[in-house]
Amino acid sequence: MWDESRPAVLTKGMYFPDKTRLIRAVKIHSIRECREMTLSESTMEVYKAVCRRDFMGCHWMLRASKKKSGLWKVDKFISTHKCEMDTLNENYFNLDVDLISLVLIPYLEVSIRFKIKECITAVHQEYGCTITKRKAYLGRKRAFELIYGDWDKSFSSLPRYMDALQRFNPGIIVEWRRERSPDRPEYIFNYVFWSFKPTIDGFVHCRPVIFRDGTHVYGKYDIKILIAVVVDANG
Ligand SMILES: [Zn+2]
Repeated sequence: MWDESRPAVLTKGMYFPDKTRLIRAVKIHSIRECREMTLSESTMEVYKAVCRRDFMGCHWMLRASKKKSGLWKVDKFISTHKCEMDTLNENYFNLDVDLISLVLIPYLEVSIRFKIKECITAVHQEYGCTITKRKAYLGRKRAFELIYGDWDKSFSSLPRYMDALQRFNPGIIVEWRRERSPDRPEYIFNYVFWSFKPTIDGFVHCRPVIFRDGTHVYGKYDIKILIAVVVDANG
């Protein structure tokens, strides 16, 4: 059985828990061998990959099928390539955005400010390939979305988040501003304001100066998060 945390050499008869991990393993195998494979057949039951240079007479191929148990088994595997590859090839056909994002997820979980240069280094450490800045950018974007969700999902979960805040913080004030355009069925978000009960109660005891700070939310939408701060007599 294939164990993704301890990848082994691909062999005939090997079992995979699902098709996603099978495809990933075949891609990684090709990258490590400095060869390129391409899809020949892919259905709910069968997966077949061939060498991308089969037109050169290379017979490398791997065929797997789904068994009754739900597991995927490698039924046929011709593991040697006859093709020649340019060792300076830097396109890395099989090193796609999905594989790159998997390498980057642990780094982005530690810091969202993981630079493109650092992404390229991390991928090189894992696979020995130097990817382009564009691939690194797309891989980082995919990894970010896998960890934090995309912009649209974040905005659509905002009402649920505010609902939870209200449910667990009695006395909280939440105010929404949204508008409806005649040609769209859904509301358009303008802003949401909230203030917790202890800050409302404590406001009367504070000095009569209100500080305001804010930050831009960089990304798809040009929005800002603002915060109002007041200090009491103790500072
Ligand atoms: Zn080949």
